[in-house]
Amino acid sequence: MGSSHHHHHHSQDPNSSSARLQVDKLFCFNILCVGETGIGKSTLMDTLFNTKFESDPATHNEPGVRLKARSYELQESNVRLKLTIVDTVGFGDQINKDDSYKPIVEYIDAQFEAYLQEELKIKRSLFNYHDTRIHACLYFIAPTGHSLKSLDLVTMKKLDSKVNIIPIIAKADTIAKNELHKFKSKIMSELVSNGVQIYQFPTDEETVAEINATMSVHLPFAVVGSTEEVKIGNKMAKARQYPWGVVQVENENHCDFVKLREMLIRVNMEDLREQTHTRHYELYRRCKLEEMG
Ligand code: GDP
Repeated sequence: MGSSHHHHHHSQDPNSSSARLQVDKLFCFNILCVGETGIGKSTLMDTLFNTKFESDPATHNEPGVRLKARSYELQESNVRLKLTIVDTVGFGDQINKDDSYKPIVEYIDAQFEAYLQEELKIKRSLFNYHDTRIHACLYFIAPTGHSLKSLDLVTMKKLDSKVNIIPIIAKADTIAKNELHKFKSKIMSELVSNGVQIYQFPTDEETVAEINATMSVHLPFAVVGSTEEVKIGNKMAKARQYPWGVVQVENENHCDFVKLREMLIRVNMEDLREQTHTRHYELYRRCKLEEMG
């Protein structure tokens, strides 16, 4: 109380767009990648954030599903980003997949619980709390061209009230263009008929309404990952090379990678964080406090 020093606070409203672009602002952003081993999760993360995140070579011999979190500090345009990537190791590798969703649900809940415990403390320090709650769940769908697997439907159904799910079709270079369109609508109708709630790009704020509305029709985004640079004309571009041609990751005629990047880390990062707090965490908190009486 008699202390002569005080914390420096930025006078800007943290929700204003200028504050959002402040150079010294440190954001936590936490992505959960759900998908079977070898579907391209780590490659896509490397491609999205232009880095080579450490990752161990995947084996298919895991006795069960476990979650592995890794944190990094990145500079994304003019925000400093504390990025945590959580991977589902061993997902889809067991013969009996009945319990595959459980470790994922437990992980998400454990992060909510940690935040709740911090909130309940008399002396809180939420302003410098490392928030580990999952803001976005990228759900990797195998490019089968058929339909969703029951594991996918069950898992998404268990997660949809806890996390913002963004479904993506992995390794989209392995699916023919005319089949891709049908596959996308098949997936979307299966999600609807099974009552799976995916993240809705917000259209209530004027600045993002149009882009979000036009992007929604492309869901699930069909993505290709690669960190290999190939010479295209006189420029280098991230691509995958095949005997019959080159797939360019950032060419919107080739796949939806750019759309995913725009939606996830440029346009809707703030909304994903907000929805996590006001919808998913709030639901967890309410149930927890009711339980406690
Ligand atoms: P993870 O186990 O889900 O993390 O999968 P990885 O990212 O390690 O990828 C497994 C294999 O799939 C690697 O050989 C990658 O080069 C390959 N791969 C990753 N992304 C793509 C893609 O978009 N298309 C194709 N065809 N292969 C990919």
